[in-house]
Amino acid sequence: MKFEYAPAPESRAIVDIKPSYGLFVNGEFVDGHGKSFKTISPSTEEVLAEIAEADEADVDAAVKAARRAYARVWSKMSGAERGKYLFRIARIIQERSREFAVLESIDNGKPIKESRDVDVPLVAAHFFYYAGWADKLSYAGLGSDPQPLGVAGQVIPWNFPLLMLAWKIAPALACGNTVVLKPAETTPLTALLFAEVCQQADLPPGVVNIVTGAGETGRALVSHPDVDKVAFTGSTEVGRAIAKAVAGTEKKVTLELGGKAANIVFDDAPVDQAVEGIVNGIFFNQGHVCCAGSRLLVQESVAEEVLDRLKRRMKTLRVGDPLDKNTDIGAINSGEQLAKIRALSEIAESEGAERWSPPCELPSNGFWFAPTIFTGVSQAHRIAREEVFGPVLSVLTFRTPKEAVEKANNTPFGLSAGVWTDKGSRILWMASQLRAGVVWSNTFNRFDPASPFGGYKESGYGREGGRHGLEGYVR
Ligand code: NAD
Repeated sequence: MKFEYAPAPESRAIVDIKPSYGLFVNGEFVDGHGKSFKTISPSTEEVLAEIAEADEADVDAAVKAARRAYARVWSKMSGAERGKYLFRIARIIQERSREFAVLESIDNGKPIKESRDVDVPLVAAHFFYYAGWADKLSYAGLGSDPQPLGVAGQVIPWNFPLLMLAWKIAPALACGNTVVLKPAETTPLTALLFAEVCQQADLPPGVVNIVTGAGETGRALVSHPDVDKVAFTGSTEVGRAIAKAVAGTEKKVTLELGGKAANIVFDDAPVDQAVEGIVNGIFFNQGHVCCAGSRLLVQESVAEEVLDRLKRRMKTLRVGDPLDKNTDIGAINSGEQLAKIRALSEIAESEGAERWSPPCELPSNGFWFAPTIFTGVSQAHRIAREEVFGPVLSVLTFRTPKEAVEKANNTPFGLSAGVWTDKGSRILWMASQLRAGVVWSNTFNRFDPASPFGGYKESGYGREGGRHGLEGYVR
């Protein structure tokens, strides 16, 4: 049963959202020349701020600022000095963590307990981790004197706005590159607050530049001739377009794209833990997670028991106000994303899958989708093949480990997978068979700055995080 909790809202008073924001170029906020756009709170549809759109000339100014800072200051500085700036940034993020968490939840819609306990601590950890590498690059196994690439153009999505920024900026700066980063159009606010942190840390002007805007701004950035490195996280479709745009140039590229991970539960798995792992795998961050465990593969002999317990657990999930500390599932990030989730769910029903959601009341304003599972799913169903990027789980069954591997690998993606079993030997065998960049065993959605992350096949190429994450930023 679901206990009634009194609301426990986190106060918004700590954040100071300005009515409008410019671009962050050469250490200062400047006006953009494009049309401005609004960022809204997805949980209420309230307009939060007017955001400048960077056009081609603005992107050019940002790349020039990054080039100057690279040539005159950043690439000349010792690794130890660069590390000091990164440590300073990490500490400021920790000091301002509540502000970042509240702002992220307001602009993105994710529950405060996730932004507070997962996103922001991982952001700080990432900066601390790469700060430590800045003066040790010659021991990273990348040659005796690895050199920076120059200016990095970085484009990130809306699902983990600040965390994706950290994954991009921390290793780039540690290696001596300067950056121009474009946050997603629906979630620009924490990147703009990060720009203030750069000022507070006295980071030399031009080392970090933030240009806001949508696809056109991103296109201008990745195709700018003076960008040496392109790092992109987002959809496979846009990733493909970027790969084409940079083909034949000298630019180095890292692409982190979509996923359709299998979360595989064997009959000897501890069922309650597995159920927690299934819930975390697909309902964490509303399922807006590229490595989400969106395909549950459960061994036939325990399928009924696992499903019963999963449904019971789902009845306790609280959907609602992202700033309420009791909330488990927040708002869908945009009306557009909600429409995609609805459309794929309707297709699943029309293809014959059976839909189930726990009874739950959704707020009347904003964008919401109840946690949903589909049973009776076959591998041919679109719901089992395409990335939903929402709180929607497809359930399939298997009889033997071999069948589990075949089904798990039957996808154009290859980002992550989960294995739940009591047997260590089976974990190791499964990990060697699964074509996925990350395989979790008896856990899911665990991240650490020291461990590399990235995919195979249509999930992209290159690794972020860990020592491997340095490779993409040096020659
Ligand atoms: P998206 O590809 O539409 O947008 C991502 C970013 O690219 C945004 O900042 C957008 O403005 C920009 N963009 C759009 N068109 C562009 C173009 N032509 N050139 C350059 N930039 C362009 O994706 P989304 O809907 O924002 O994010 C969801 C997708 O991201 C999902 O498919 C998800 O799997 C993927 N994702 C992957 C990872 C990973 O690490 N592999 C992490 C998070 C999200």
